[in-house]
Amino acid sequence: MELTEQMTPFEAVNYFFQRAASNQELADSAIAMLSGTFRELRVQVPYRCDDGHMEIAYGYRVQHNAARGPYKGGIRYHPDADIDEVRALASLMTWKTALVDVPFGGAKGGVQVDATQLSEREKEQVTRRYADQISHIIGPTRDIPAPDMGTNAQTMSWIMDQYGRKVGHTTQIVTGKPVPLGGSFGREEATGRGVVVTMEEAVRELGLGEPEDLTIAIQGFGNVGSWAGHIAAERGYRIVATSDVNGGIYAADGFKVDDLTAHVHESGSVVDFPGSEPISNEDLLELDVDVLIPAALGEVITHENCEAIRAKLIVEAANHPVTPVADYALEDRGVLIVPDILANAGGVTVSYFEWVQNNQEIRWELDDVNRRLELKLQRAYRECRDFQQSHASEDMSFREAAFSLSVERVVEAATLRGYL
Ligand code: GLU
Repeated sequence: MELTEQMTPFEAVNYFFQRAASNQELADSAIAMLSGTFRELRVQVPYRCDDGHMEIAYGYRVQHNAARGPYKGGIRYHPDADIDEVRALASLMTWKTALVDVPFGGAKGGVQVDATQLSEREKEQVTRRYADQISHIIGPTRDIPAPDMGTNAQTMSWIMDQYGRKVGHTTQIVTGKPVPLGGSFGREEATGRGVVVTMEEAVRELGLGEPEDLTIAIQGFGNVGSWAGHIAAERGYRIVATSDVNGGIYAADGFKVDDLTAHVHESGSVVDFPGSEPISNEDLLELDVDVLIPAALGEVITHENCEAIRAKLIVEAANHPVTPVADYALEDRGVLIVPDILANAGGVTVSYFEWVQNNQEIRWELDDVNRRLELKLQRAYRECRDFQQSHASEDMSFREAAFSLSVERVVEAATLRGYL
């Protein structure tokens, strides 16, 4: 596969899969299976708007691979969540779950709507209708959805309720639920916490210094970006810039993240946070900081801006924020990139903990969840490094090592089942 900037998101993910496949000399059947998807469902989602008129949205559920366990992955409400994007995200889930070694496969769902323009009533209708339309292919041992961009714990409550109307109360049908409905302590902040845990592994490895001496820019202040910022600030790091769709803010001395969160709750945006200067989303990426955390959309670091990136470490809180062309250019310049399938795997890791707790009808304490999450991500980080070092002759990037290790695990499971 040729490396170009014109790749679609699914082609870009598959580019890294193909690199791993050729390093491992995978059979053609394995390449065909894993560069495609097992099942793709496209459904109409009609819903009545508050003004009385009907809208028809399109929704998808893509199941990429289930060799290692039930399909697992979030549901995204976003205008860009088309079939190619959802395929890309579904395949990333297969590699992510294998990398952190949770017993799941990979899937993803999407509805092409702008969640920011929907009222709660409209969102509930979209969700219940979409849940009905995909209900025949999901299940607590088949495919377990979770939140993603544009969805949250409330969305999961509606899905659980809707699914339960058909088959009876089923807590394990979704993860990322609110705690009173069987959610896990620590799930809401898990992706952000995982970003900080893997960032700290890289900071130690690179010898970048003590938290107080390090500056961080976070693109995106949604669930993942804000929790990553909150937890990093708690550990002493200086968050000097962040942003949302309305614009960005910068403060050389760092923000008080709690105050910033309060400001966002009040005003709906990070913009105009007292004591900060405005900055554009594009300029934020090019700031002279130690660590850059893209925590918004995919493909924000491309061949056009990668030369201007000054951070020494990039931690991919978002899914595929760096295009493959930019990835290799940054790698050549010695920038360490903690890849998405490792950096943002904290969410699905605690989703797994939630599913385990639901299956056993018990609840773990928050400290217990956080400790297990930290151990799991630290181990995955170490395993990627060990894999890279033990294949030194193949000259792999950290991302390529992460993909190769995941591919090896998925192929092993598929072979044991007799698919390959
Ligand atoms: N949507 C999250 C992700 O991309 C979480 C998925 C899950 O918990 O199943 O990793």
